[in-house]
Amino acid sequence: ALPDSHSQIRSQFPTLTQMLGDYPLCYLDTAATSQKPQCVLDAMAQYYLQDNANVHRAAHQLSARATSSYEKVRDQLQVFINAKRREEIIFTHGTTESINLVAFGLTPQLKSGDLILIDSAAHHANIVPWQELAKRTGAIIKPIPLTQDCRLDLNAYQTLLALKPKVVALCHVSNALGTVNPVIELVQQAKAQGAITLVDGAQAVAHLSVDMAAIDCDFYVFSGHKMYGPTGIGVLYGRFEILDTLTPLLTGGEMIKRVSFDGTEFGSLPNRLEAGTPPISAVIGLGAAIDFLQLSLTPEVKAHEAELLQYLQNQLRALGDVHLYGAHHDNIGAVAFNLADEHHQDVGILLDQQGVAVRCGHHCAMPLMQTLNLKGCCRASIGIYTNKTDIDHFIAALASVKELLL
Ligand code: PMP
Repeated sequence: ALPDSHSQIRSQFPTLTQMLGDYPLCYLDTAATSQKPQCVLDAMAQYYLQDNANVHRAAHQLSARATSSYEKVRDQLQVFINAKRREEIIFTHGTTESINLVAFGLTPQLKSGDLILIDSAAHHANIVPWQELAKRTGAIIKPIPLTQDCRLDLNAYQTLLALKPKVVALCHVSNALGTVNPVIELVQQAKAQGAITLVDGAQAVAHLSVDMAAIDCDFYVFSGHKMYGPTGIGVLYGRFEILDTLTPLLTGGEMIKRVSFDGTEFGSLPNRLEAGTPPISAVIGLGAAIDFLQLSLTPEVKAHEAELLQYLQNQLRALGDVHLYGAHHDNIGAVAFNLADEHHQDVGILLDQQGVAVRCGHHCAMPLMQTLNLKGCCRASIGIYTNKTDIDHFIAALASVKELLL
C-alpha cells in the first residue's frame, strides 16, 4: 500500500514538482529546512485572507478568530508531544530562540563554578547560548565526548555526571550526522544527579514520535520549519514548575499582568514568556503541519523513511571512494559524507548542476567537525516526501561527479 499512499504524500508538496534545468529537483536538504505541504500554505493564506488580526487583545470578531486559531495550536502541540499542560508550550521564533530563552532565563539560578554539560555533536544553537550563560555567571562548560563511531561516550558521560552538573544540554538527533541519542536514559541519569535537562529535538520531531512523559526532560525545543511548517516559529516545551522559574528574555506587551511607572507584575505562563505580537500566521501554519504529520507519519511511513536512509547509506558505500561519518543503521534523516579528498563545496556545486540539493560545510557544528578532523562535509537528508527515485538520482549524479573529479 505504501507506494501509492507515499506518492499521495509527495504530491502535496508543490515545490517538488519543479525542474532545475534539465533535471527534476532532487531535494536532499530537509535537515536544513523541509518543504511545505499545500495545507500549510493554505492555512497561512486563510489567516491573512480572512482572519488577519492581532491575538488576545481586541473585542472584535477577527481577533477572536485569530486568537482561537492561535491558541488551538498550543492544544495541538500539547497532544503532539504529550505534555501535561497547555501552559508548558511556549511559542518562540525557532529552536535557537527557545534555547536562548532557557539559557538566559536560568541566569539567576547558576553561580560561579557550576557545571554545564554539552553534547559534542551539538548544533551551535545548543552551544553558544550556554557559553554566554557561562560568561554571565562564571559557570564552566564541559563537552560530553563522542566515541570513535560518533556516538555519545556513555562512560565519559557517567564520569561527568558524577561532578553533579547544574545543566545537561543534549541533542536528540544530530543534524550533522543523523545519529540518535538514547535520550530517555541520558535524561534519567542526568536527573538522578540533580541536573536541569534540555533536549534539542529540532531534527527529531519530523521523524519520531516524541513523548514528554517518556523523555521526562525539563526542556525540549524544536523548529516549525523542519517539520513541514513555516519558518519563524519554534517551540519551547518546559516542565511547568521549572518553566515558571525562568526570567523572561523578552519583556513588554502581552507578558504582563499590571504595569505602572512604579513597577510591573508579570503575567502567568504561557504569556509570561511570549512578549510582543507573536508570529501568528506561522503558528497557524505549524498547526496545519501537525495535522499533516499526525495523518501522514504512520508507522509504515516511518519504516519507509528508515529503509530509505539505509538504502542511501548502502548506495554511498557501494559507490566507493566515499567516506561516511557516524553512519549507523539506526540513524535518522541524514547522512554525512565526503567524496575521497575532494572539497565538500566542489561536490555540492557539481551535484547542484544535476538538480541535487545537498548541504555542504560545517553544518553549524564546528566543534564536531574539529573532533572528526574535517573542514566540512556534505550532508544528504531526507523527509517524508523523499522516494527511492531521489536516492537513485543522487547516487547517479555523485557517480558522475566522481568520474569528473577522481
Ligand atoms: N538544533 C539543531 C539540531 C538543528 O538542526 C537546528 C537547525 N539546523 C537548530 C538547532 C537551529 O534551529 P533554527 O535555526 O530553526 O533556530
